[in-house]
Amino acid sequence: MEQQTHNNKIDQKVFEELCDAIGRENVLDNIEERVCSPFDTSEGKSIPDLVITPHSTEQVSSLLSIANKHSIPICPQWAWTGLSGGDVPVKSGISLDLKNMNRIEPLNARDLTVTVEPGVVIKDLQDEVAKSRLFYPPELGSAGFSTIGGRVAESTGGMIGMKYGVTREYVLAMEIVLPDGSVINTGRKTLKSVAGYDLTRFFVGSEGTLGVLTKITLKLLPMPEKIGTVISFFSDIDSALNATDSILIKNHLHVRSLEFADKICIDAIRESTEGEIPEEVGALLLIDVDGNEKNVANDISRIDALCRENSALNTSIANTDEKRNTLWDIWKSISPSLFKVNSMEFNEDCSAPRSKVKEALKKVYELGKAHSLQVAAFGNVGEGHVHLSVICNNGKVVDVPVNNLISQIFKDVVSVSRSNRSAQGVGDTKSEYIGLELAPHEIEIMRDLKRMFDPKSIMNPGKTFGNSSVHRNTHYK
Ligand SMILES: Cc1cc2nc3c(=O)[nH]c(=O)nc-3n(C[C@H](O)[C@H](O)[C@H](O)COP(=O)(O)OP(=O)(O)OC[C@H]3O[C@@H](n4cnc5c(N)ncnc54)[C@H](O)[C@@H]3O)c2cc1C
Repeated sequence: MEQQTHNNKIDQKVFEELCDAIGRENVLDNIEERVCSPFDTSEGKSIPDLVITPHSTEQVSSLLSIANKHSIPICPQWAWTGLSGGDVPVKSGISLDLKNMNRIEPLNARDLTVTVEPGVVIKDLQDEVAKSRLFYPPELGSAGFSTIGGRVAESTGGMIGMKYGVTREYVLAMEIVLPDGSVINTGRKTLKSVAGYDLTRFFVGSEGTLGVLTKITLKLLPMPEKIGTVISFFSDIDSALNATDSILIKNHLHVRSLEFADKICIDAIRESTEGEIPEEVGALLLIDVDGNEKNVANDISRIDALCRENSALNTSIANTDEKRNTLWDIWKSISPSLFKVNSMEFNEDCSAPRSKVKEALKKVYELGKAHSLQVAAFGNVGEGHVHLSVICNNGKVVDVPVNNLISQIFKDVVSVSRSNRSAQGVGDTKSEYIGLELAPHEIEIMRDLKRMFDPKSIMNPGKTFGNSSVHRNTHYK
């Protein structure tokens, strides 16, 4: 072994045991390989003692059984696009890099399912199933690089959850290696199955703290014939939010996505929109509908009219795929643009029942003012989910007023909404807030379940219920 480890449980003998079981070439111990693996977009960093890159379920099983025997922490990971430090090996030990487990099993389109290994990148999966005119709906800004393993482990949401729901709704069955090395199969590869407790859902969103997901069977849907997009500009937030009620509740339009952005976000992206957004715009809605050509055209013109009825200053319809992609690219650039025009931003998110979004946003802006800090808001108001970016221009990453404001936002928003972890996982950076959202007895039941599956707490220790570190910069979309 190349150098001393942080974790005194990995000595030369254990190192050799790992190499014998998994292959020397898959056990990376030199410092270059170790420093390149241990962080995500939360910018947390902790160097693992070893990085292990298995190729099969059997190798993962051997690894976990050795790690369990010697009580060595395991942190599963691959694409590191997480935003809450879930993939940072905070207790050192072994980073389990799943990049080599990236096979997609041959697709049987008539079953409307596909089985994949955890290291498959979402875009590759989407491209593969598109060949059979099928689609895997959960869609994120990170689709080009995040993996299905990370997405299932974090139970991610996404931009078209309004119509199609989130990752959780698409996971039918899984093969999972438990901390003692045993392999279990949960769920069924059928579109319907109700036998017994739903173990599959239990592992979705478990953030690598219960076991390693080694195969995932997903539900697919027929690809919609056409997608249409409308962008609508309003002078103020209330008019934009009233328009969303008018579209969804009063006129029952089942839209694919319904995204909102406030003035701070709009100001940040104005430059990249080639003058399309007038100065007086204080809020915008970006709305997608899908279906057959005729229905899409009909829905788009109704949405256009409803936005205008709710005082929209201007509405623009994307008639071509090129224009649609441009609008969505601009949308995805909100967070990077906020980062570009300000020296630092801290991303959080919260969820409220739709009817309380206005109240939750009002509280957030009031708190920002009280702390002399700006808070930008954007997100899927159709689902009541808003990303909040606290803007900080003093260039410091760890900043007491920012942390105070974020804590206060979490407390006050939870009092309105009951949820401050609607996406992005809890991981390491948000674990200190879990008690705001979950009752003590819920946490105790979860801890008992964790102990049952992982009595030695080797799986991703320090996450979800663990001690959190300071806030770090998270910057996305
Ligand atoms: C540009 C951008 C936009 C985003 N937008 C959203 C959004 O709208 N909504 C949202 O919810 N999130 C969003 N995210 C964050 C999203 O959570 C991550 O993109 C994704 O879930 C992490 O995938 P990954 O493959 O990078 O996993 P990693 O970051 O490597 O791991 C994430 C977590 O999963 C665990 N894990 C990974 N693989 C396995 C496995 N096989 N078995 C067990 N545990 C495993 C890890 O231990 C870690 O806890 C965004 C991120 C970016 C960068």
